[in-house]
This record gives sequence, structure tokens and C-alpha cells, in this order.
Amino acid sequence: MYNVTLITGDGIGPEIAEASRRCVDATGVKVQWDVQEAGVDVMAREGTPMPDRTLESVRKNKVALKAPITTPVGTGFRSVNVYLRQALNLYACVRPCKSYPGVRSKYQNIDLVLVRENTEDLYAGVEFAKGAAETAELVSQINRLSKDKKIRTGASTTGVSIKPISVEGTTRIVTYAFEYARANKRKKVTSVHKANIMKHTDGLWLELSRQVAAKYPDIEFEDRIVDNMCMQLVQKPELYDILVLPNLYGDILSDLCAGLVGGLGVAPGANIGDNGAVFEATHGSAPKYKGLNKVNPTALILSGALMLRHLNELDAADRLERAVAAVIAEGKDVTYDMKADRNDPTAVGTSQMADAIIAKL
Ligand code: NAD
Repeated sequence: MYNVTLITGDGIGPEIAEASRRCVDATGVKVQWDVQEAGVDVMAREGTPMPDRTLESVRKNKVALKAPITTPVGTGFRSVNVYLRQALNLYACVRPCKSYPGVRSKYQNIDLVLVRENTEDLYAGVEFAKGAAETAELVSQINRLSKDKKIRTGASTTGVSIKPISVEGTTRIVTYAFEYARANKRKKVTSVHKANIMKHTDGLWLELSRQVAAKYPDIEFEDRIVDNMCMQLVQKPELYDILVLPNLYGDILSDLCAGLVGGLGVAPGANIGDNGAVFEATHGSAPKYKGLNKVNPTALILSGALMLRHLNELDAADRLERAVAAVIAEGKDVTYDMKADRNDPTAVGTSQMADAIIAKL
């Protein structure tokens, strides 16, 4: 029996969490679910989007399946998702992007794994608002230190975000990518950066990537500048295998890679640390679909399969993935986003697609 925290999230979260829980249970693996809340709904009631009991449950169980959580854009509380990854030091975000036959996409046979650094970079949350006293102090310090490269506007009209990239954090994630490559019999790691412009952050990332790569002569290594990487992925994704990226580029390219394999509805993910793991879809809480039993549960169900693999329930993980693949290949009991015509009246709802997967299991 495994104790697993189930974070139901908000928006479409509760519907896909329920669908995924049922699918994991249907594999026969015994899971004691500790159901916990996070997000805007619990915020409205309790004044915090992340109650202590939710974090404590993940700390205790060390494994969680998490549905998406809304983050207000521009204002409001900071991302609960980022907070959870930082609080539990879940430094490696692993997002496999794989084509399943039957999925609607211009691309076939994609099999990429994106490894995103999860704790540093512009997501560290070190930001200073325009007009704040700290910003004035920071801007004047930056102007003093940067000599001819001064910030051209005043502190009252400038916001500042800090981008920390550390030796420890970078070495750790690039090593993780190479170890993952070895363990999963992958051939190549591509390190993605913008070292031509940001010499001391992305430059450090690239230098450390090369140092780590030298310890893995059995795995091919190359690097790409992030803008070129985007174009290459759209034009010839088959050339790539494992991508390792700093936090922000990893976030953006996750959605690009999800687009290659049929959209956000089918893109799973894992956040892994030394003391715990949280499994979640790449997509967000899609609030406009809340409560409609409409969205695709596949991404979170496949995240459940990744969780089973993490628990070493390899047979159950394979069976769950095969059941998902079979339902997608049939193309009958699938949600609107998997139909050729998005208004196809034969599209089924979230829970019905989960029922079809369970029937296959
Ligand atoms: P989103 O991923 O929620 O939705 C973007 C679009 O993708 C949707 O309009 C929908 O068309 C499609 N989509 C997403 N999930 C789908 C599914 N399961 N099935 C079918 N179609 C699906 O991204 P957004 O609209 O940019 O963000 C909404 C909220 O989610 C924001 O508050 C954002 O901060 C948050 N978010 C949370 C997480 C997380 O919890 N890890 C991740 C990303 C975004």
C-alpha cells in the first residue's frame, strides 16, 4: 500500500484529479489517497492558496499526484506551483513528449524528454516593483556597478527581476539529465541556453553543461541557443532526444513540445527531488472549462503512469500507458481536443474518457 497525496487543484483540476485517481486505482496497485486542497477555491475560504496541511502531507508521503492550480496574472498571490517545487526542492522537472498513434498532430514519431531546472532562474521570485524603496536602491547600485550599461529609466518607472543561475543548481540538473539518459538508454543530451547574450548566467550554464557532459562519453552532447532550438524543434524535432534547460526556457519549450505531440491535453510531467516527487500535467487550470466535464484527462493520467514508474510499479505503469494509447488509437471515446473537428458531437467528456481507459485496463 502506498500513501500518496492527491492535490485536487482548481479550475479543471478536481475533474481530472478524480479521473486520474480512478485510472491509477484500476491498475490494481493499492494506493491510500490523502486528498488535499490548494488553489483559488481554498484561498477564498482560508485566505491562503496553499494550506500548511497540504505541504505537510506531501512532505510526509513523499509522493503526490497534483492537478493544476491557477496563478493570477500580473497581480495577486505568487505561483503555488513554483512555491511547492521550491519548498520541497523538487529540482528536476521531467516532461516526456511522445507521439501516440491516433493523436492529431502534423508530427509523428516524436519521442523527446524535456528536463527543466525547477528552482532557480527568473522563477526564484526575486522581483522588485517599480517605485519601491528597494528598487530605487537596487537600480542605483546596478547603475554604479554596470558603469556604461546603466538602466536608462528611473527606479519609479522600472521593475527588476533577478535571474540566479548557480553552479550547484546547474550541475545538479545537467547531471540529472545525463543520468536519466543512461538509465533510459537515450543517446543524446542537448543543453539549451542564451549564452551569447547572458554571459554570466547562461554562459555559466553552458560551461557547466560541457563539464558535466565530459563525464558521460557514452552520451552524445550538443548545445543550442534557445531561439534556434525553437525553430529546430518545429522543423526537425526528430534530431533531438533529451533537452536540458534553465527554468524559464524549460517552461516555454514544454508547451512548444506539447504542441508537437498533440497539445497540452496529452503532455504529462514529474517534479523530482531527493526527498519527494510531485506528478502533474504540463497544462494549467484552463478555468473556462471548469466544471464542464469536457477537458482531456490524458496528461494527468499519464502523469499517474509516471508516478507508478517512480514507485517501481513498472508493470502497472506500462499497462496504464498502453490502455491510454489504445483509447487514443481507437479515437472513439476521446475528448473534443482529440477529434478532427473540435465540435464533433461524438466527443466524450473527461470522466467518460477515463471510463474507456479503465475498461481497457
Ligand atoms: P492552460 O494550460 O490552463 O490552458 C491553455 C489552453 O490549453 C486551454 O484554453 C485549453 O484550450 C488547452 N488545454 C489545457 N489543458 C487542457 C486539457 N486537459 N484538455 C484540453 N485542452 C486543454 O494555460 P493558461 O490558460 O495559460 O493558464 C491557466 C491558469 O493555469 C493560469 O492561472 C496559470 O498560471 C495556471 N497554470 C498552472 C500550472 C500548474 O498548475 N502546474 C501550469 C500552467 C499554468
